[in-house]
Amino acid sequence: VRLAELTAAAALSFALSLPAAALAAPKKAAAEPLPLVQTAMALRDDAMKGGSIGVEFTRDLTTRFGARPAGSASEAAAAEWAAARMKALGFENVSVQPFRITSWSRGQEHAEITGPSRQSLAAVSLGEAPPTPAGGIEAEIVLFRSLEELMAAPDGSLTGKIAVVSRRMVRMQDGSGYGPITRIRGAGPGIAAKKGALAFVLRSAGTDNHRMGHTGTTRYENGKVAIPAFAMSNPDADQIERLAALGPVRLKLVSGASYDPNATSHNVIAEIRGREKPEEVILIGAHLDSWDLGTGAIDDAAGAGIVTGAADLIRRLPQRPRRTIRVVLFGSEEVAQPDAPFGTFGGWAYANANKAALEKHVVAGESDFGADKIYSINLPAGAMGTAFAAHVETVLAPIGVLMRPDSLDDGGADIGPSVNQGVPVFALNQDGTRYFDLHHTADDTFDKIDPAQLDQNVAAWAGLLWLIADSDVDFRALAKAAPAPAAH
Ligand SMILES: [Zn+2]
Repeated sequence: VRLAELTAAAALSFALSLPAAALAAPKKAAAEPLPLVQTAMALRDDAMKGGSIGVEFTRDLTTRFGARPAGSASEAAAAEWAAARMKALGFENVSVQPFRITSWSRGQEHAEITGPSRQSLAAVSLGEAPPTPAGGIEAEIVLFRSLEELMAAPDGSLTGKIAVVSRRMVRMQDGSGYGPITRIRGAGPGIAAKKGALAFVLRSAGTDNHRMGHTGTTRYENGKVAIPAFAMSNPDADQIERLAALGPVRLKLVSGASYDPNATSHNVIAEIRGREKPEEVILIGAHLDSWDLGTGAIDDAAGAGIVTGAADLIRRLPQRPRRTIRVVLFGSEEVAQPDAPFGTFGGWAYANANKAALEKHVVAGESDFGADKIYSINLPAGAMGTAFAAHVETVLAPIGVLMRPDSLDDGGADIGPSVNQGVPVFALNQDGTRYFDLHHTADDTFDKIDPAQLDQNVAAWAGLLWLIADSDVDFRALAKAAPAPAAH
């Protein structure tokens, strides 16, 4: 082991991790890990032992500011705090990028079943949905089992009614059950309104059986959301399905939601400047904003803690990496905007402000799926089969991260606008089995985070980041050299 070639911290950590016999053993000729890989392993091991600020950063963010809705005073205060915290830690070029948004605030709201009998209804307004008239909306429902059923309803057939879609989300490790329900959440209010509906209710995009509504954004169409829209809990949706089988069902919905078209949101940007090629940037991110019902712990204070904690471990090394690591804590990931086709407004603000510099972004990745264990990795296109991939496997396999053969063309909402401009992307995939039990509910709170699993996330991020940042691996060149993926 060429200890002299290691950075001091890595050497120390590596030496401590070896049994005495191994230290005393004579040099072996075969397969000594490179200093690059040894440092990545040392970072990984430090994080696994709880050596990073990942958990602490997550706890601070959720404790000091609670919920951090996009454009709110709480989100702004969290951004200011995060910037100050990162500056105090020793990150460089710390800045706060403000941008204008239309924000949305939940008002007093209430939902109940009024017929055939009066019963409570656990439901919450969707983000961006307009308020009801002051006295609420009370009407008979028309129940649909899917978005396709709603779309097939004749025009005018929902006049004076409340449209309800009760399709259930499927629990999946990779979270892929979410997509079909977000399509209902996004498009449902507009489709129901066109057919005459007064309001729209869906079964929450959630996998729990607790009486919690899962909020989340719906979609603006032509600058507005047509009708009030709510998400009800799974048990309430089951109850409505049973009641509807017996006869007509009536609901009453009240929402005092409001908009502010002149709100400000913020991205927080901080760097570890590279020692040799500082203009080459590795972009890693998470989002600072959250929904209003919980304290945004799994979504996404955890991600902020994971990427900040990983970068901070590298910052502590005696020698900085060759390339720049840039942490961006994005504002306004959760909300849609009236004048944009998508949400992810902080991601757009970042990509627009860095248009020319994106060419020099080596790669991008984000953490926005809670804090449970990372179980697989997608490398950028063309990277599998290279020496870089072998190094990644050496560092990450011992903490349970499988190499996936495929690559992604979309790494998440915040980095999406940068990835669309050609920045290569990786994904460290987290176990999402229980994520949608909590996501966007009042139960998304810090106690739901398992510190050991969060540390495993930091370990994977720190190891991977070092392998990219202290090397000259060129993912754009690898993608060009790679054979075109087989059609399927
Ligand atoms: Zn999120």
